[in-house]
Amino acid sequence: MRDFDFVVLGGGSGGLAAAQRAAAHGARVALLEPGALGGTCVHAGCVPKKAMWLAAQLASRGRAAQAIGFAHGVGALDWPTFVAHRQRYIDAIERGYGDKLASAGITVIPQRGRFVEVSASGASTVEAGDGVRLQAPHVLVATGAQAQRPAVTGAELGAVSDDVFGWNALPERLAIVGGGYIAVEFAGLLRALGAEVTMLVRGARLLDGFDAELADALTAQYRASGIEVCFGTTVDGLASDRGRLRVGDGSFDTLLWATGRAPNAGDLGLDDMNLGRDARGRIIVDSRQNTKIPGIYAVGDVTTQPALTPVAVAAGRCLADRLFGARADAALDLPLVPTVVFAQPPLASIGLSEAQARAEHGEAVSVRRSRFRPMLTALGGGESRSLFKIVCAGPEQRVVGLHLFGEGVDEILQGFALAIARGVSVDDLEQAIAIHPTSAEEVLFAR
Ligand code: NDP
Repeated sequence: MRDFDFVVLGGGSGGLAAAQRAAAHGARVALLEPGALGGTCVHAGCVPKKAMWLAAQLASRGRAAQAIGFAHGVGALDWPTFVAHRQRYIDAIERGYGDKLASAGITVIPQRGRFVEVSASGASTVEAGDGVRLQAPHVLVATGAQAQRPAVTGAELGAVSDDVFGWNALPERLAIVGGGYIAVEFAGLLRALGAEVTMLVRGARLLDGFDAELADALTAQYRASGIEVCFGTTVDGLASDRGRLRVGDGSFDTLLWATGRAPNAGDLGLDDMNLGRDARGRIIVDSRQNTKIPGIYAVGDVTTQPALTPVAVAAGRCLADRLFGARADAALDLPLVPTVVFAQPPLASIGLSEAQARAEHGEAVSVRRSRFRPMLTALGGGESRSLFKIVCAGPEQRVVGLHLFGEGVDEILQGFALAIARGVSVDDLEQAIAIHPTSAEEVLFAR
């Protein structure tokens, strides 16, 4: 039995952040991770996806370059070369994590950990895969989530997002099931790289939960780029047909399930351990990351909090500050979480959609918009339009929501997000001095 102050299960974004911050406060920390350090974000999420998105942006820019007079576009992507560059980048991040943990004095155990004893009043005990036991008064569950396939015939014939990162060539004709983040991101980037893409969405729109007007603009843009977007479409099963996949009347090389992710909360040991879960099996936590059992906490995609890396990192640091630092009251404030969907072009959003604002603030809501052609598109004669939307509420018309769709918005939102969190009003935006000519200035000019 080895004693620690803090045992962390899972070496993804949330677990790593919590472990490092706790060690910085002087805690004795052990981190158990059976896979690669960095978790979903580094190995099967944000990082490899963003690399593909950047490649897709270059392909689009190549077409824009030709439209304004360059002799050639960028040509087709050589996937094996690209994948080698992407992997080198990921390997460097993983090595960096290993070095940081070592220099912080954190004990890294490359095995799965499971609870073997839980005590409401004292230390809990976790057993690593090799039988070594670790005891600590504070244990963090940061075990993440995994892609799920629906329970339909032949579901295993379809790929999930993890599989995409193993591809060494572009599928010619691809179906994507789902209308959320992952479906929208892969549809856009694989189309930009040259695939024929059909989106099969069971609902009536893309990106539920985002502002409906932006989702409509995204749908129109995707259709204009050649993506077939089918709403109200349920996939009941897949069948293999001479090397292709048959889905209803359609035939595809590959089908990608982008139908949500399930928490890795089922193999934590002590089957009757009641951490408190919602209907999807996610661990319910409060703003201090507490579960139902004192001394056991959870962060990241395994919890009910938004499944976003920066949220997991903030939650992990907040918890470590509260347990081991001087911030006994540290809690996570979540109403204003900025988020970007890396569509083509991207969609960035913070705060309330127009519908949410009207439900919450009634008549006191006003909306400003700017629709414009980004300069590069206008120069080349393209049809792409940006849509920026500002939702304000209350007597001072504070900005309660900002929703941006168009080139560059992934980088534009961050600064405005900070201003919105500090209570910026629409008057403040009007009085700010613009940077010209940019897309960002359209946030100040929206009427
Ligand atoms: P989402 O929850 O975003 O979307 C899931 C989609 O799948 C929805 O359109 C849902 O439809 C649909 N769906 C669910 N079950 C079925 C089914 N049985 N048949 C057909 N459609 C189905 O999940 P994702 O997997 O796209 O992403 C998971 C999470 O990961 C995101 O919510 C986000 O938090 C995070 N993420 C963040 C990214 C970023 O920050 N850029 C990028 C990628 C992921 P319905 O609405 O009808 O339920």
